[in-house]
Amino acid sequence: MKIHEYQARQILSENGIPVPAAEVVRSPEEAGVAYKKLNSPMCVVKAQVYAGGRGKAGFVKLVRSADEARAAAKFMLGNRMVSPQTGPEGVSVSVLLVAPGVNIAHEYYLGVTVDRGRNTATMIASAQGGVEIEEVARKTPEKLLKEPLHPLIGLQGFQARDIAYRLGFKDKLAGEAAKLMMNLCKVFLKTDASLAEINPLVVSKEGQLLAIDAKINFDDNAMFRHPEIQAMADESQEKPLDVRARKADLNYIALDGTIGCLVNGAGLAMSTMDIIKLHGAEPANFLDVGGSVTPEGAIEAFRIILSDSKVKGILVNIFGGIAKCDTIASALVTAGREVGFKVPVVVRLEGTNVDRAREILDDAKGELPTLTTATDLTDAAKKVVAAVG
Ligand code: GDP
Ligand code: MG
Repeated sequence: MKIHEYQARQILSENGIPVPAAEVVRSPEEAGVAYKKLNSPMCVVKAQVYAGGRGKAGFVKLVRSADEARAAAKFMLGNRMVSPQTGPEGVSVSVLLVAPGVNIAHEYYLGVTVDRGRNTATMIASAQGGVEIEEVARKTPEKLLKEPLHPLIGLQGFQARDIAYRLGFKDKLAGEAAKLMMNLCKVFLKTDASLAEINPLVVSKEGQLLAIDAKINFDDNAMFRHPEIQAMADESQEKPLDVRARKADLNYIALDGTIGCLVNGAGLAMSTMDIIKLHGAEPANFLDVGGSVTPEGAIEAFRIILSDSKVKGILVNIFGGIAKCDTIASALVTAGREVGFKVPVVVRLEGTNVDRAREILDDAKGELPTLTTATDLTDAAKKVVAAVG
């Protein structure tokens, strides 16, 4: 799960990390008012979107008057932001942050994330922070310092001080930077984050250490422990189908192909995608309805797949265990009646109550002419690939 920068700044600030004051606005007029209220000759107007690369895309702007603040806000609210992180369709902007501008002397990168290679949370830091961090990581990876967090006690003081000195901090600032790192690690662990990032962390010309950008992503599977974080979600930033799938407890990821997949179990969903590719087509989605899917969940899964206009055929691959084959077959028939199968649907069912399921599907064939059953997975893949051409 993601949240906006202004919310991440709030969390950092509550945890002892110095963040400049800011105003959240939703119109050019409010941006002008915020500029005056902040009472700083230079302010920064920033689009609040679930994507990075805003600076380079022109959605982070320094302004020096209320008029400039209004103009920047008008531009950002009136255009979709496209960056390497958004895809060509871009994202819509409805919320902006206005903050006092900082006179930057140096930009650092600081982040905590999971290092999958080491199986541990890791602090990553660089003295080459800012909008070029991806380039730095690609071309000069040695400029990223990495320090693993102890799984029980987190980052320790000596590690934080070591990073601070290696980043070039001296004297009082080194102590402040080390403390800030410890606090960032605390935020990461306490909120069940998958990423807690400050880029850039800056030293201002006045010698102050400040976090002027903030990004926190959370582990979805831990969000039941954090209702206050869940409440921050902004659904307008997500794809509508993703929101529907999440509400129905479905693991759904849209892909580029033409064959919709409805499968129970992530492993089976992966092998279903593989076998579709093996027979020469591409899956339109990954969809794991879970081991204990309800009829309502299965029906919603069909609605989601069918509302994707790329889908030219559907492969249903169910191994009936906790969710029995006949439950799925009934849901399939109900879904067919409700939404109408305009595309070929090939069904492969195996497991508990499979005979009853086959009867249900056979009975419905007159009503649902595009429905075909398959004897095994290879047969199913061949049939659906042939059906979409
Ligand atoms: P991002 O591009 O989405 O990561 O957005 P950031 O908030 O990181 O802003 C991008 C860049 O804009 C930063 O790396 C800074 O160089 C610049 N920037 C942001 N805020 C300020 C500010 O208050 N003062 C100055 N001088 N530059 C800023
Ligand atoms: Mg940034």
